[in-house]
Amino acid sequence: HPGVLHRRFLSDLSTSLFSFVLPLLPTSEELTIKEEVRTLIEKLIKTIEPSSRLLSFGSSCNSFGLRNSDMDLVVLIDDPDAGLDASTFVQMIGDLLERETNFDVKPLPKARIPIIKLNLAASPGLPYGIACDIGIENRLAIENTRLLLTYATIDPARVRTLVLFLKVWAKRRRINSPYRGTLSSYGITLMVLYFLVHVKQPPVLPNLQRIAPVRPITEEEMMLEGRNVYFFDDVEMLRQEWSSVNFESVGELLIDFFRYFSHDFQFNTMVLSLRAGPLTKESKGWTNDIDMARDRNRLCIEDPFEITYNVARTVTKDGLYTIRGEFMRATRILTQRPERAVLALAELCR
Ligand code: ATP
Ligand code: MG
Repeated sequence: HPGVLHRRFLSDLSTSLFSFVLPLLPTSEELTIKEEVRTLIEKLIKTIEPSSRLLSFGSSCNSFGLRNSDMDLVVLIDDPDAGLDASTFVQMIGDLLERETNFDVKPLPKARIPIIKLNLAASPGLPYGIACDIGIENRLAIENTRLLLTYATIDPARVRTLVLFLKVWAKRRRINSPYRGTLSSYGITLMVLYFLVHVKQPPVLPNLQRIAPVRPITEEEMMLEGRNVYFFDDVEMLRQEWSSVNFESVGELLIDFFRYFSHDFQFNTMVLSLRAGPLTKESKGWTNDIDMARDRNRLCIEDPFEITYNVARTVTKDGLYTIRGEFMRATRILTQRPERAVLALAELCR
C-alpha cells in the first residue's frame, strides 16, 4: 500500500539523516586541540593588552559545527581606556604570533574589517590542520552565536540534524560560497530556523526574540552597539515551558523545507526575518536599484540583531538561480519515492 510505503520511507529517511550526520561531527580530539590553541593565543594577546579576552564564536560553539570546520575567534577588550584601534592591534597580534608560534600568520590590518588569518599545520589529532580567523571587538557575533545555540538546545534532535545536514548538502552542491555568489553557512542556518519558527504550523520552535523576559529588563540592558540584542535565553525555563505540538519527524521536515523554498517562498519580493517573520523587500527598502553597480538584494535574509544588514547580500542573480535549482533538484529526489532513504541522501549530496 502506497501510504505504508511512504511512512516507511519517511521513518527510514529520519534514521538515515541521523546516521549521515553523526560521523561528520568534530572528534573530541579536534575540540580539545582547538581549545588549547585558543588558550595559547589568548595568553599571548594578554601580554599586549591585559584586559583582553579571546572568545570563540560561529560553528565551534553554536552546536552546528562539522569536523574540520574553521575556527572563528574574536578579541574583546574590556578596558575602555585601552586606546588601541583595530588595525594597530591586528598588526601587533600578527607580529607577536609570528614570533612566538609556528602558525602560518597573515594579519590583514587594512581590510574593511581588520582580521588575522591563521593556518595550523596538520597533526595526528587534526589531519587537515585548521584555518582560523581572529577578529576584534565583534560583540554582535557572540550574541548571534548564542541565539543560534539557544535555538539548537530547545530541540537538538531535529534542529541540529536538519542544520548540519543542510550545511553538508550546501557544501557538496557548491552553494555555500559567499565569495562566489552563493550563501554563507550562517545564512543557511538562518533559513532553517526561519522555516521552523515561521513557516511550519504548528511551529517547531518559538520565536525567542518575541518571548517577554521573566524579570523586566531595561532598555539599556537590551542594547549593544545600538542594536537590540534581547532574546529569551533561559534554557531551563524553555525546556519546562515550551513543548512544540509539531511532532513531524526530521525526514518530513527536510522534505518540507526543500518544498517550501522550491515553490512557496517569494524570493523576488520577500525578506526572511527570523526576528519578525516574512517582510516585504519594499517595507525594508531592500529593492534593487537599477542604477546600483552590484545588486545586493536578490536573496534577502535579515540579520537577527543587525536588522539593516542583509546576510545574503553576496548572493548574485546567477547564485540565486543555482540555489533555487538545487532546492528543486532536492525536492525531486526526495518526492519521487526512492526505494531507499540512504541512497536518496547520497544522491542528494552527490
Ligand atoms: P562553518 O562551519 O561553515 O564555518 P559557521 O557557523 O562558522 O559555519 P560562518 O558563515 O562561518 O558560519 O559564520 C560564523 C559567524 O560569523 C556567524 O555566527 C556570524 O556571527 C558571523 N557571520 C558570518 N557570515 C555573516 C554574514 N554574512 N553576516 C553577518 N554575520 C556573519
Ligand atoms: Mg565558521
